[in-house]
Amino acid sequence: MPDDRPNSQPTTRRAKDGRGAASDLAATQDPRFHEIPRERVADRVAQELLRLIAGGSLVPGERLPGERQLAQMMNVSRVSVRAALQQLKAQGLVSATQGGSTRIIASSESLDRGLGRLVRADLRNLLDLAELRAQLEAWAARRAARLGKPEQIEEIARLFEVMADPARDPKHKAEDDFAFHMAIARASDSPVYLHLLSVLGDIFSENCAFHRFELCPTPADDRRFLAEHRAVLEAIRAGDEAAAARAMMDHLSSVIAAYSALPERTASAAGGNGR
Ligand SMILES: [Zn+2]
Repeated sequence: MPDDRPNSQPTTRRAKDGRGAASDLAATQDPRFHEIPRERVADRVAQELLRLIAGGSLVPGERLPGERQLAQMMNVSRVSVRAALQQLKAQGLVSATQGGSTRIIASSESLDRGLGRLVRADLRNLLDLAELRAQLEAWAARRAARLGKPEQIEEIARLFEVMADPARDPKHKAEDDFAFHMAIARASDSPVYLHLLSVLGDIFSENCAFHRFELCPTPADDRRFLAEHRAVLEAIRAGDEAAAARAMMDHLSSVIAAYSALPERTASAAGGNGR
């Protein structure tokens, strides 16, 4: 971290730190050399947590253990854990929850909000977003077919069964649909993709609600979506990458086709309300 290095005023800094002596003044004024900061325990804790986030062991939305537990498990002080969490917060990688715990986040609410505005302001942006989503999700389905772990694929299947249950209240259909897509994202085994989705997630889930309740609301639409989801699941389960990508693309293309037929004035509804 170059900006942590006290290379601007080495003499003042040294005096304050109590390191070095005044007789070293000549040496400390050579701008080619600068002090190597001692690594703090908090920095190492932050690096370790970052490594877990970047490696996908800690996923967006996951709640971290409390400070005391982390301190025990990592054999460091609570003060170090707290300082490390502050660093990660400043970097937009974790956020405090209302209950006082810490959650993994991808950042960045402001990006999500800005995107929401863009999409609401112009139907073409909404179409672009739907097309990009189709590309991303087809990629994820392909990856899930190749790399999904058995328990992750079981989870996709379980969420499909929830959607397929005739006794399931239709008011849940959008959240169930979105949960199915998120399970595929987790099975894609890509921390980058998961973080990307956690940025785009709110707007995708708003869009999902719009598709299911307004754009394609009929029982016939519901049956078609279910068949499309089944095709995605079966291809992933079979480990057929090309079929999984194709099935996901077919599924989301039907949504894009419906958007294309949408009159421009409804674009504001499609971006969701409230934000
Ligand atoms: Zn879907």
